[in-house]
Amino acid sequence: MKPKYSPPPVAPESTGPLFKRLLKYVKNYRLGFVLAVAGMVSYSAIDAFFFSQIQNFIDNGLTEKNSELLFYMGLAIPFIFITRGIANFLATYSLSWVGTHVVNELRQDVFNHLIKVPVAFHDQNSTGDLIAKITYDIEQVQAASSKALMTLVREGAFVIGLLVVMFYLSWQLSLVFLVIGPVVGVVVKHVSRRFRMVSKRIQKAMGNVTSVSEQMLNGHKVVVMHGAQGIEQQKFAHITGKTRQQQMKLVSTRALSVSAIQIIASLALAAVLLIASNPSFLESLSTGAFTTVLTCMMTLLRPLKLLTTVNSEFQKGMAACASVFELLDEAAEDDCGDKEIERIKGKIEFKQLNFTYLGKEQPTLKDINLTIEPGTTVALVGKSGSGKSTLTNLLTRFYEYDSGEIKLDDIPIKSLRLASLRNQFAMVSQHVILFNDTIANNIAYGMLDKVSREDIEAAAKAGYVTDFTDSMPLGLDTQIGENGMNLSGGQRQRITIARAILRDAPVLILDEATSALDTESEKQIQTAIESLSQNKTVIVVAHRLSTIENADKIVVMDKGEIVEAGTHQTLLAHNGVYRQIYDIQFVGH
Ligand code: ADP
Repeated sequence: MKPKYSPPPVAPESTGPLFKRLLKYVKNYRLGFVLAVAGMVSYSAIDAFFFSQIQNFIDNGLTEKNSELLFYMGLAIPFIFITRGIANFLATYSLSWVGTHVVNELRQDVFNHLIKVPVAFHDQNSTGDLIAKITYDIEQVQAASSKALMTLVREGAFVIGLLVVMFYLSWQLSLVFLVIGPVVGVVVKHVSRRFRMVSKRIQKAMGNVTSVSEQMLNGHKVVVMHGAQGIEQQKFAHITGKTRQQQMKLVSTRALSVSAIQIIASLALAAVLLIASNPSFLESLSTGAFTTVLTCMMTLLRPLKLLTTVNSEFQKGMAACASVFELLDEAAEDDCGDKEIERIKGKIEFKQLNFTYLGKEQPTLKDINLTIEPGTTVALVGKSGSGKSTLTNLLTRFYEYDSGEIKLDDIPIKSLRLASLRNQFAMVSQHVILFNDTIANNIAYGMLDKVSREDIEAAAKAGYVTDFTDSMPLGLDTQIGENGMNLSGGQRQRITIARAILRDAPVLILDEATSALDTESEKQIQTAIESLSQNKTVIVVAHRLSTIENADKIVVMDKGEIVEAGTHQTLLAHNGVYRQIYDIQFVGH
């Protein structure tokens, strides 16, 4: 089991810097943003204007029986609503345009960054958590950048518009609202803090739901074979239970805050009526003005309510922003070298190399000294966990070694550009990774612009892929589905061998390449690998000795150290660790 990764605690960023950083993404879409805000403000201004006319309508139109005024008001209404409709469309469309662009950019940035972060980062973070960030967290950011902002600006402008109308008509009554305002503010502040906390927990819980589901789905066979259905179900139930609890907290906070604010606002209404009941005050107020102020106050409840809920949405978005930005702030792979190299001859040197995995106490590789001459085959043998794969992983700089040096053709690998370094290697590993594409495109993965169809076909033939694709109606153009689910282990392995053949790199790394195969496939693959290995430096991470007897050098590793090195014959004669492994494997032969 890998230790569960817990990110280093970050100083709790306040909403301000997060929002500022999000706004940087909005910068490129400034025009859309301005149009959206203009649309929202116009929309609210029209609404506020509509309310301001209630007084005119009652006092002049109805009380004074001014039929001409009523006539023109009637004529104006459709035009007002047409303008309001246009403003609404402009606001919604522009804001969604900005929002979807921002989300796409953010998502692309996260995706790009996940490719750039070191392998160690992926070791320490579960795929489920990372996928939840790309999907769920970024969706939440979208909610903040479009829906929340829409309501915030539009309802905010509406509230201001209504307050202006109210103050214009009766500042005394309107002052009541100013007294109530700060109380509402305190409630909102308290609620938003809680929302932010709960939202963060929900996001974390959602990440757990995805990772537990993913593990069960990937390891379904293992689960049923070990009768671990109950354990997995319990684990899942525990996590979904936690998510539900957090969601309920969010819902109850929201419901309580809405009611609390409405109660506070109703106190304001009560106060207005009490003041208005004063006979001298009643004298100075027209029916129209009183009705308008009262209507404005009641209307204010809705935007105020919306503003409190939108705040929660906004806080949720900001919490998601924090999690996304935290990921974007992870250091990328250190591409410190600047040397470009076309094609090395294939000499590899490890000098006094030491390496410890992050979070491990014991060194994984200790004082490794090894020289591999160009064009030779070196086999690494040793117990599982002795550090064979780690050694090859350091060669491609998947991990950074602590001390010592690795040189390719006498050039320290750290002085090479990563792309240039990795171009020198082709890997065939037991863990076959295929992409959801055709067989041909999988063979030519990453090289489609450099190779011809003939090259792909030749590689497919040399890797014995055509042996099974010839009987398929679409041949090499057959879609293989997610990770080649419809193919056998041997077939998938052959595709990766063809990929390595096509890549034609000077160094070949074979990591237990033939262990998943039946005898028939193995024979073909051995032949394919032999032709692939010609004139190349080959490093074989081997488990079975039968395939490596002819290697130019066999290196025996134990607990991260090289304990023996030599040819098959010399090592057998030496009667050491290699002899022991040999005897165990060939007992009874
Ligand atoms: P081998 O290939 O000989 O089986 P490895 O190189 O895979 O051995 O592993 C060597 C040691 O390093 C083992 O103890 C293993 O647990 C540890 N190890 C391997 N990969 C990682 C990793 N990504 N993070 C931490 N420790 C690891």
